[in-house]
Amino acid sequence: MANGQGGQQVVILPEGSSRMMGRDAQRQNIAVGYAVASAVRTTLGPKGMDKMLVSEMGDIVITNDGATILTEMNVEHPAAKIMVEIAKTQDKEVGDGTTSAVVLAGELLKNANELLDKGIHASTILRGYKLAATSALESLNTISGKVDINDEKMLKKIASISMGTKSVATNIGSGSPKDVLADIVVNAVKQVAEMKDGKWSVDLDLIKVEKKAGGSIEDTSLIQGVLIDKEIVHSEMPKKILNAKIILLDTALEIEKTETDSKIEITSPEQIGAFLAQEEKMLKEMVDKIAATGAEIVFCQKGIDDVVQHYLAKKKISAVRRVKRSDMEKLARATGARTVTLLNDLSSKDLGHAGQIEEKKIAGEAMVFVEKCKDAKSVTIFVRASTEHVLNEVERAIRDGMGAVSSAIEEGRFVYGGGSIDIELAQSLRDYATKIGGREQLAINAFADALEIIPRTLAESAGMDPIDTLVELRAKHKNKTGVTFGVNVIEAKVADVEKLGVIEPAKVKKQAIMSASEAAEMLLRIDDMISARGRPAGGAGGMGGMPGMGEE
Ligand code: ADP
Ligand code: MG
Repeated sequence: MANGQGGQQVVILPEGSSRMMGRDAQRQNIAVGYAVASAVRTTLGPKGMDKMLVSEMGDIVITNDGATILTEMNVEHPAAKIMVEIAKTQDKEVGDGTTSAVVLAGELLKNANELLDKGIHASTILRGYKLAATSALESLNTISGKVDINDEKMLKKIASISMGTKSVATNIGSGSPKDVLADIVVNAVKQVAEMKDGKWSVDLDLIKVEKKAGGSIEDTSLIQGVLIDKEIVHSEMPKKILNAKIILLDTALEIEKTETDSKIEITSPEQIGAFLAQEEKMLKEMVDKIAATGAEIVFCQKGIDDVVQHYLAKKKISAVRRVKRSDMEKLARATGARTVTLLNDLSSKDLGHAGQIEEKKIAGEAMVFVEKCKDAKSVTIFVRASTEHVLNEVERAIRDGMGAVSSAIEEGRFVYGGGSIDIELAQSLRDYATKIGGREQLAINAFADALEIIPRTLAESAGMDPIDTLVELRAKHKNKTGVTFGVNVIEAKVADVEKLGVIEPAKVKKQAIMSASEAAEMLLRIDDMISARGRPAGGAGGMGGMPGMGEE
């Protein structure tokens, strides 16, 4: 409803729908956004805490991963959804830095709220934030250093810092799982990296992450090829093949059932016999066509008839059926085989190769290892860990590591972490703010303060006093020799993080600043929330217990 001219009420919305406008709408969106950020803030960094999420069905997930927590939280309020979107975008674009992005967005909103309370207009804040984001990204470019795809030491550091923030991979001393995993992640990413138009590009889909509970994290391995979670179909088929010749088929090795309602008239026992013999002959011909290529194993995306299995086994050709399409693509990349659709087209030119193929029993289940592929353009990380919960978190750590390493390779630039980059960017923003002047400078300064939420949170997680830490860090950074000073969360003190090897890809930081500021701007721009019938605007959001704003 709205007030029409002359005080008459003009009904523009159906009954039951509701509307919230102006400062109320802003206040609520900000509160919700900030609440979402608060929910993940304590997980930041290597001393961050884990969260236990329990679904309605009672399934539990224990994680420290921002994106996972937010996705599992099932939020309902539209502003909360926008915050979750930040984490998802960050995850998709760079694969790491999700918590940082969300926490930064929350802080941008909180600081904007304070400015609004002081009577600064939203459009002034929006302009200031935009200027600040652009300037921060420019400074990031100048501050960042170069990292080369061949600099393995550097890439391993990036991988292990990224993975080290997950509790499963931390604090176990040198020779820890983190080191084993960092080696694996760097090798895997390097192997699938491709030079495209003079730039490195990494398609992380080419790295399969397969996992099985049992064993320890150190048993995790990199397979030069593909691990297929299926068995070889027939007990008489060879279970281990060296220098294997491979065929990939995306057609069924069966007689296709007629789809239309055609009936076959069979009137005598002889006819049945003839019919079956004809079928068997066709199936046997399929096997002959495969054998003629010299293939030793067939991976089929569809089904394989028992008769075909029998004849293949007789010829000592192994077979795996109902292989997932995504696995078929990886097999093609790893072995060089060409996927064949029509059996009549099959020739030895379609063969692929693998140094070894073996069916192994892992934790009681058969899996087919297609390994030792020469120059494999698709690889598998086979993750092992004692229990399902640990296994899942290790996988999330590995995926963060893959994201970080590929971001570093693609952009070729790194920055120092542990909050040092954030302090540095905040300082350059404050300098910039005085140049801009006007009311916008207040917003630019608010943006700078927001960036400092990262070192502040890291300090808190280590049990340090956040205010003292910030004061000390700002002083170090004022003096240009201290630009690499950040929070040593392990020893709970301010330290030179360059010496500690705390580095991260510039691209991850860049994306975090971009998506956080975009989301904050989006929420600040809303001054009217209209919701459909039966759904109060705001009101019953999915987030319980929102912390009060500005009470610190
Ligand atoms: P995100 O989801 O944002 O990646 P993380 O929990 O992975 O969150 O934490 C990342 C932050 O932790 C970064 O700011 C990074 O610089 C910092 N960090 C990681 N390892 C260390 C360390 N050993 N010492 C200090 N800071 C660290
Ligand atoms: Mg991380």
